[in-house]
Amino acid sequence: MTLKKKETTSTLILGAGLAGLSTAFHLKRHPYLVVEREQRVGGTARSFAIDGFTFDITGHLLHLHNPYTTNLITALLGRNVVSCVRNAWIYSHNAYTRYPFQAYTRGLPDAVVDDCVLGFFDAYLKNKKRKRPVDLNQSFSDWCLGTFGAGISRHFMFPYNEKLFQTPANTMTADWCGPFVPMPKLEDVVEGALGNQNRPFGYNTTFLYPQRGGIQVLSDGLAKNLKNIATGESVTRIDWKKKRATLAGGKQITYRHLVNTIPLPDLLQAMSPLPKAIEEARRELKFASILCVNMGVQRSDVSSRSWIYFPEKRFPFYRVGFTTNFTPTAAPRGHSSLYIEVPMDSVSGKSKGEIIASIQERLIESRILKTSDKISIVQFLPVRHAYVIYNKERTKALSTLFPFLAKQGIASIGRYGAWKYSFMEEAILDGKAAAEKIAKQ
Ligand SMILES: Cc1cc2nc3c(=O)[nH]c(=O)nc-3n(C[C@H](O)[C@H](O)[C@H](O)COP(=O)(O)OP(=O)(O)OC[C@H]3O[C@@H](n4cnc5c(N)ncnc54)[C@H](O)[C@@H]3O)c2cc1C
Repeated sequence: MTLKKKETTSTLILGAGLAGLSTAFHLKRHPYLVVEREQRVGGTARSFAIDGFTFDITGHLLHLHNPYTTNLITALLGRNVVSCVRNAWIYSHNAYTRYPFQAYTRGLPDAVVDDCVLGFFDAYLKNKKRKRPVDLNQSFSDWCLGTFGAGISRHFMFPYNEKLFQTPANTMTADWCGPFVPMPKLEDVVEGALGNQNRPFGYNTTFLYPQRGGIQVLSDGLAKNLKNIATGESVTRIDWKKKRATLAGGKQITYRHLVNTIPLPDLLQAMSPLPKAIEEARRELKFASILCVNMGVQRSDVSSRSWIYFPEKRFPFYRVGFTTNFTPTAAPRGHSSLYIEVPMDSVSGKSKGEIIASIQERLIESRILKTSDKISIVQFLPVRHAYVIYNKERTKALSTLFPFLAKQGIASIGRYGAWKYSFMEEAILDGKAAAEKIAKQ
């Protein structure tokens, strides 16, 4: 929709990613207006159709755990859906081992297997003596050492997570780990070192994905019957006392309720000047940026895997996934589609050509690409706020920020609005909860 110079709405929604779209979808007849900076809806759940390829912003797979979202999403996708079984691996010490690293060490050098199994045993005995599980409210490094032992921490947990979050393990907390990090038992670790390689672990052993059109299909499905979405409009200022938002071109929107899904630091920036305590809390919000490199290769059997983790520093990427193994329609016939997730700090200052060359070299070294492979397309997508960092200051900062925002009638939701590590399903649930709260007022 095209906005007038001055608009008034009951609920202003900032951002048309899944959280913003879901808020509008669940508000039903309650009046709203969605303002989105990009020309298309979907946010992080957008897709790009280029030369017969359909690329997402890295991989966007539907791990559904909630009955409501499962019903909603399967209804929105209809028959355009495939069900996949995870086939995830880790490449380290020049060897491939099954995911999760902590449960499958067979195939690694003997000394590494010893380190991992004996370290796990040591942690297990200490925990048994202590008679209580390892506390999640401690540093990530202490939690890893206490849960998995020194070997698994040193060979995977520390290097992988420090690479992904671009932050030292001892300055992060472990309170995000509960749902995301698989916790094998002692017998699993021993079996996985000896040879049993086929037990599923973790939250994402199976997942759904659109058969055609990438994850954009989900965002478009939510947006389909929504009116009042203004794309290509960026919020630059929020006068929170007057409840008025100003957009980049000077248009103004007066609101009663504000639902924010844009990154929390950006919202607070737009709201400044703010009380001193709020400014201080804002400065504690840290995030990691990544570069998503989507790559089309002229060979259909590049890999049979879903994705591979790379904990070692000499690889510029931390994960490589294969979209054509979720659905072959992601690439033209005879091609593979790869997504390569690169921590921004490993490529800063490098040219596009240098980045591609270093990625290609390491993909050949890890036996994913052959030297004869022809790369037909490369897409670079920088993601500024990719991962919220669970630094030690985060919880305290949020406990100052959210009550302040609530007092101003602002609900800040979604992965970056609520400043958390969460998935698409949760973004949709956040939007539903925000809409229901507003509808009751
Ligand atoms: C690399 C990566 C891989 C992921 N993989 C998966 C996966 O496999 N499965 C899964 O379930 N989840 C995955 N996620 C998480 C998933 O993308 C998010 O949980 C979800 O899409 C977040 O939706 P959101 O609406 O909260 O935020 P966003 O999608 O970020 O939406 C916020 C919107 O606000 C807009 N905006 C920003 N600033 C402004 C402004 N000033 N004015 C107006 N609009 C603005 C943005 O353009 C955007 O559209 C992944 C995330 C990343 C980064």
